[in-house]
Amino acid sequence: MQAIRCELCGSQDIVKEDGLFVCRNCKTKYSPDEARKLVGTVKIDNSETVENLFTLARRAFQTRNYADAERYYTMILPEAPDNVEACFFREISKAMAIGPADRRGEFPAAYINGIRMVFALYKKNGYDTKEKEKIEALTDFILGHAREVEKEVKGIQYSKVDEISAMNNLTRIYMDLEKELRTNLPDRPGTIEKVKKECANLLRRKNNKIPEDL
Ligand SMILES: [Zn+2]
Repeated sequence: MQAIRCELCGSQDIVKEDGLFVCRNCKTKYSPDEARKLVGTVKIDNSETVENLFTLARRAFQTRNYADAERYYTMILPEAPDNVEACFFREISKAMAIGPADRRGEFPAAYINGIRMVFALYKKNGYDTKEKEKIEALTDFILGHAREVEKEVKGIQYSKVDEISAMNNLTRIYMDLEKELRTNLPDRPGTIEKVKKECANLLRRKNNKIPEDL
C-alpha cells in the first residue's frame, strides 16, 4: 500500500479516525476522497513543505502551543540547518514548553543559546544590510517577549528569592544580547542603546524603584 502524505506538513503519519484520515503531526483532517488524492501524489516539493512547516510553527508559537512549535521547528532543521528563525525559535519554544513555574532555569539558558546561535550563523555568512535588519527585528522580538515573560513572573506566586532569581535571569538575557550586539553589530548603536535602556528599566523594576511600569 502506498503511503499517504499530508499535503500541509509532509508527514506520512496519517491514521484513520471516525471515517476520516487525520495527520497525527499537524492534526489536519482529510475526507476519504481527499485522502485518495494524496496517495502517491507525485513527488513532494520540498521547499513547499518547509514553507508549510514554517506556517505551522509560527502559528503554534503565536498561539502559545510551544510544544508543537518546537516540533515543527525541529522538523525544519534537517532541511534548513542554517535557518536562523528555526534555530532560534526551536530553542525558545523548547524552554517555553516547560510550564512557567518550572522554566526559570531553562529559559535564560535557552535564550542565551538562541541568541549566540543566531550571531554565529550570521557571522558564518557575513552580515549584509538585510541580515542586520533581521537581527534588529529579532532584538525587538526578544525585548517584547522578555517583557511578556516578566509579566508572567509577576503573576506567579513565587517566593521573594525565586522572583529575584527569575528577574536576574531575565537581566542576563538583556546583558548577553547587548554584548553580542556590541561585538557583532557595532555600527547599529541605536539597537544597542535600546537594549541597554530596557535592561536598565528592568533593573529598576526589579528593585521596585518603579512600582509597575508594565
Ligand atoms: Zn500534516
